[in-house]
Amino acid sequence: MRMENGGKAVRYECTRCGACCRWAGDVCIETDEIHEISRFLNMDEQVFIDTCCRLRANRRGLSIRDAEDGACMMLTKDGCRINPVKPRQCRDFPNKWNFPGWRDLCRAREVGEEREA
Ligand code: SF4
Ligand code: SF4
Repeated sequence: MRMENGGKAVRYECTRCGACCRWAGDVCIETDEIHEISRFLNMDEQVFIDTCCRLRANRRGLSIRDAEDGACMMLTKDGCRINPVKPRQCRDFPNKWNFPGWRDLCRAREVGEEREA
């Protein structure tokens, strides 16, 4: 949950702007997440895999499918349809992983400095 920012360790809180749900690329989903999400959606696991998942670009696992406009198919006008059980990749951005220039695209707000454990 830490980011270096001008030498400070900063924690960010998502404002649910939805921008990262519209970026191109995989929304990686792991086996335990498939169980949890299909249960949350009250869907049979295989039906969920068949209708909501696709192979990742590197073919080494599954991703949530894209909608026709390129956004994640779980994105609705009210936000993420599976927010309480969204994949780790979604939960961990931007505090646990990010990329150069992410701050120009993400509207997460700074919520304070992380303390060393
Ligand atoms: S699963 Fe939810 S949070 Fe993750 S990209 Fe899709 S809509 Fe966004
Ligand atoms: S993580 Fe950032 S880009 Fe994604 S929804 Fe939250 S504020 Fe928006």
